[in-house]
Formats: sequence, structure tokens, C-alpha cells
Amino acid sequence: MAGMNANTLFSQALGLGGQWNVVKSEMDVAQRQLRLELDFPAGTKFACPRCGQLCAVHDTVDKEWRHLDFWQHRTDLRARVPRVTCAEHGVLQVEVPWARAGSGFTLMMEGMILLLAQQMSVSAAARLLRTTDHRLWRVIDHYVMAAHRDKDWSKVRRILVDETSARRGRRYVTNVIDAESTDLLMMAKDRGADTLGEFAAAMTKHGGRPEQITEIVMDMSPAYIAGAAAYFPGARVVFDAFHIMKMAGQALDKVRKDVARKGGDLRGGLWALRGNAWTRNSEQQERRSQLMAAYPALGRAVALREFLQDALAGSDRSQLEAWLAWAQRSRLAAFRDLARTIKRHFNGILAYMETRLTNGVMEAINGLLQLAKRIARGFRNFYYFRLAAYLKAGGLNLQAPRLLPT
Ligand SMILES: [Zn+2]
Repeated sequence: MAGMNANTLFSQALGLGGQWNVVKSEMDVAQRQLRLELDFPAGTKFACPRCGQLCAVHDTVDKEWRHLDFWQHRTDLRARVPRVTCAEHGVLQVEVPWARAGSGFTLMMEGMILLLAQQMSVSAAARLLRTTDHRLWRVIDHYVMAAHRDKDWSKVRRILVDETSARRGRRYVTNVIDAESTDLLMMAKDRGADTLGEFAAAMTKHGGRPEQITEIVMDMSPAYIAGAAAYFPGARVVFDAFHIMKMAGQALDKVRKDVARKGGDLRGGLWALRGNAWTRNSEQQERRSQLMAAYPALGRAVALREFLQDALAGSDRSQLEAWLAWAQRSRLAAFRDLARTIKRHFNGILAYMETRLTNGVMEAINGLLQLAKRIARGFRNFYYFRLAAYLKAGGLNLQAPRLLPT
């Protein structure tokens, strides 16, 4: 180390070898900036980026790259990048070992950007790195979409289709999730039948075929049902029990409001009647018994909801049929409506009872989508949200540059 000059030191630290060397290093302490100039010796030949043939330099183009900070100093690299004349491919710009063509960041800096983007919002990462959000998104876009394109879907058999709000209560997007790996395979801008057509087309680009899909789990959205029939005619539709129980909860709420409208005293009823035994405290439990005894309609509604929950937890078709028969003669309009809906979707509900798909998958993915929303904070348009969602939930094999000299 003794006597090593700054240029040699920076060349080694950058891992430069062969043709390239740091030829000038300037430190602006006041501006907290380090500028390194890289160059190659006259007469050096460079490989044609297409065929690898060593070619003479035609001319050069000045370029700049932002690198990892040197201690507290922002570091920029500059070089004149050669264009070579290849006998076969003409005049082309060569690749430099420290950066990707077209990027204004070095590879190590891109590695840092990808690391930070998985831990904090892109806006926060931009502030930390003293650059703009848009420049970071371009890097994320490159690596995430490349990894997404390379993702192999040939083993996907069961998918889950679900909608998520991209912005609070406003725009909805459709997520297609591999029910086994729980990887988010595709996020589509819409929630219509064509989203499934889009997924069917994408399958062929990812080494798969639509015919390999055996089950599609979804809520009872007519658009998804139509899409499954049109694009995946061989797949079995499975209705998610979570959505069915949500509807049962809504039916119970209707009965409760009806009783209240007719003068019932339902104070404390909202929480006492909702949910499951393990979510209620003893006070709520007692109130619940009182209400069910005082208002028989409410008692029946609560019992119907619980019977349905038990039926769905089992795999006995006759239990679901028994529930239907009871709900239909229950004299509770909300539950008669629910019975009609369940009857109409009977096979898909039975498919759920047999396959038990969905349990936990959506919960796992929803947590990751919340993180994606945080990453894309301030950039809630579809494109950025999707990028962040693929980054967090896509199960991608991200080819991020290493934070070490190559
Ligand atoms: Zn060539």
C-alpha cells in the first residue's frame, strides 16, 4: 500500500482490470464530491458487443455514472466510451465492465438501489441516495421486469384470482396467484373477464399452456366466472369460502338492522354477534346469549351463519344441502337470498370443500401487497404499484448486481 497513488487505489477498489484505469481523481471537499475519470490506453482494441470480435476504436462518447458514495462523498465516474467499427456489425458502442448499457448508475450502485428498494419506499431511498425517484424506478423496472419475464410457469396448476384496491376504494386490479407457491404471477389493470384471457396468453410466454390449469379459485364475480369458462374451459372453478362467509356476515348484519328498525334494543350487539367464539370476551358472549333469546330472528340468523361455517369447514356435501334447506325456509329474506346464491354456485363451493384451496394464500399475499404499497408510496399509479408488487410478492429470481467489484 505504501506510496500507492490515488488513481491506482481507486482502480483497484473499483475492480477495474485490463483496459480500463482511473486516470484522474478529484475531490471537492466543500461539495462532498469525488470525481473519477476512467480511460484506456491509445491503441486498445475492444470487443464488438454483438460478436465479440476485437475491433479498433472508431470514436468515443462521453458518459457519466453515479457510483456508491466514497465515505460521505458522492462519487461520479466519467469515461469516454469507445464505439468500435466491426466489419460485420458496423459502428457500435462497447460495453463497459462497471455499468449496464444505457444506465446512469454503476452496477454496484444498482445493486444498492435494489437492496434499498426492498426495505423502504422508493421516495425514501431516493432521498437517502440524493437522487430522484424516477431514476430509481427505471433501475427497478429493468431488473424486476427482466426477472418476471424469465419466470417459469410450466409447473403452475392451480391459480387464485382476486381483486385488490390499488388506491383506497378506488381503482381495482386483478391478481393472479399460484395457489401452491403463493407467488404473484400477474397483476392486471382491470377486473373483467378479459384479465383471464390476458393471463392465458401470458402463460405461453412463460413456458406454460392454459390447458395445464386444473383449478381456478375466485370469488363469485360474474366476470371471473365468464373469463374462466372462456379461456380455461377445462379448469374447475373453486369458490373461496372466505368470500362466502363474508356474505353470510352481511346477511346477519341485515337481520340485525331489521330487528333494530323494528324497535329492538341491540346495544352492544354489533360486536357480540359478529365473528367467532374465540374473538369474543365473556361480556360479549353473555350479551350475545341475551340478544339471541330476546329476538328469535336474530337467534336463527346467528345459528344459520354458524351452521354454514361448520358445513364449509367439512367436506360433507349433505351438510351444505341441509343448510340450504334450512336457510330457504328460514323466513329471513337475507338468508334466503344467500341460499339462492349458494345454490347457483353449488359446484364451485363443493370444489372448495374438496380441495381446501385458498386457506392462507390470500393472507400471505395481502401482507406483501401492503408492503408493495409502501414501497410505491406517492407513486400509486398502476405501473409502479405492479412493479413493487412483483418485487415483493412475485417470488422472482432477481439478477441484482453484487455490491462487490465484478
Ligand atoms: Zn461484430
